[in-house]
Amino acid sequence: MADHQQIFDQLCDHYRETAKLENISALLGWDERVLLPENAGAYRADQVTLLSGIIHDRNTDPRVGDWLEQLHDSPLTEEANSPAEATIRRLKRDYLKQVKLPKRLVEEFSHSRIIGQQTWVKARAEDKFATFEPILDKLVSLSREMAEAIGYEGEQYDALLDFYEPEAKTAQVRQVLKTLKDQLVPLVAEIKDSGRVPNMEVLKRNYPLAQQEQLGMSAASKIGFDFSAGRLDVTHHPFCTTIGPYDIRITTRYDENFFPSAFFSTLHEAGHGIYEQGLPHQWFGLPPGAAASLGVHESQSRLWENIVGRSYAFWSHFYPEAKKLFPEALSDVPIGDFHFAINEVTPSLIRVEADEATYNLHIIIRFELEQALLSGDLQVKDLPGAWNEKYTQQLGITPTSDADGCLQDVHWSAGLMGYFPTYSLGNIYSAQLIEQAREDLGDLDAMFASGEFMPLLDWLRENVHQLGQCYPGDQLVERVCGDPIDSAPLIRYLRSKLGPLYGIEH
Ligand code: ZN
Repeated sequence: MADHQQIFDQLCDHYRETAKLENISALLGWDERVLLPENAGAYRADQVTLLSGIIHDRNTDPRVGDWLEQLHDSPLTEEANSPAEATIRRLKRDYLKQVKLPKRLVEEFSHSRIIGQQTWVKARAEDKFATFEPILDKLVSLSREMAEAIGYEGEQYDALLDFYEPEAKTAQVRQVLKTLKDQLVPLVAEIKDSGRVPNMEVLKRNYPLAQQEQLGMSAASKIGFDFSAGRLDVTHHPFCTTIGPYDIRITTRYDENFFPSAFFSTLHEAGHGIYEQGLPHQWFGLPPGAAASLGVHESQSRLWENIVGRSYAFWSHFYPEAKKLFPEALSDVPIGDFHFAINEVTPSLIRVEADEATYNLHIIIRFELEQALLSGDLQVKDLPGAWNEKYTQQLGITPTSDADGCLQDVHWSAGLMGYFPTYSLGNIYSAQLIEQAREDLGDLDAMFASGEFMPLLDWLRENVHQLGQCYPGDQLVERVCGDPIDSAPLIRYLRSKLGPLYGIEH
């Protein structure tokens, strides 16, 4: 009889080694977006492609299939959702998926997404969709090919969504987002009809970059981002990446004349980083040491960025420090005016700068468009027109350039189709989680106002971070909150904050 523990250890060692290669690839990716010289792009694409081939070979190694076969009914899988059971279950799921993808397709996809990102940067700078169109066309058809190779029960989009939100189904996500949209549209209309507007000029004053960096790092570190196991750099499109268990990199972008841009993207990426730093490191490279899903990942970033970072209580603590760092900009601005300004609700063109109430409408537009691209209902060449039409219909504003329209996001250029809905799932989860945390911990606002963020962090560590991938995203949230995915807490949260600011029902 096989020694199951021994086989399990072999399996884990194999994946720990693969994780090292993935981390090297992530480091090359970080370098590409932060430091790479202009002419070095093609060679970097070759390097990453080579690595992705090696990683794919390891992930589809027949020995892995044998090990998983011997383990899947073993005593190690008896306790559901235990680290060992989750490891075997998740790796088996991933393995069966990987072996269906031909190496040629994996390499072609990997290469195309590097070229895609490089082309996107150029096309966006030149505001020229035609430059981007051919590679996007290729990425759409490669995504389709991947979905077909993997297979699906319901619809093609399920196969892609599953990469980011394992076990989620398109039909369910469509339903949840529709309910959300039906609640958001009237909220946004009430806000518009209130006639109240914050004084946004206070955020557009001069905020020197060095002081912005200082405040961003101070806040990130106070909420729990460990700078001795991570760093903050500057990029065009902020992101967070894992290079190793003690090396989590986040990035931001600065605008000297608009305070929220860097500060809230720093908090956002720090939220992602804090989650990565809080995963159980003894399982690094294996499912129990990895984030549950992208939706859960986004719940952590949005929770710190918005629910905490845009609260009055948070600024009761940080505003004196901000006033000291930006005396010229803020000396005559009462905290209430500042707080209203950072919570302004107004339809806008750019997703990453959208407020909390309209943000999910940006996501829903992308979700609808990528489904249409994949199904062939929408041709890539017609994307700019379709994009502008949806913005006009759903947000009441029309982009005047593709750079501010369909070229604004990096995702499709990186081959990430099926990814966008995870942002909205994250927003929904974040509100469910904070409602439960308030129930368990009491007056969180009083804690934030006195600069105490550790009780909430510890609660998240225990209920979310330490569980890694032992549960799928929606089950993890349900386990903590007692309810399945539900957009009601998000609407309750938005109304309770925005109601008093805009003088509307809450
Ligand atoms: Zn994020």
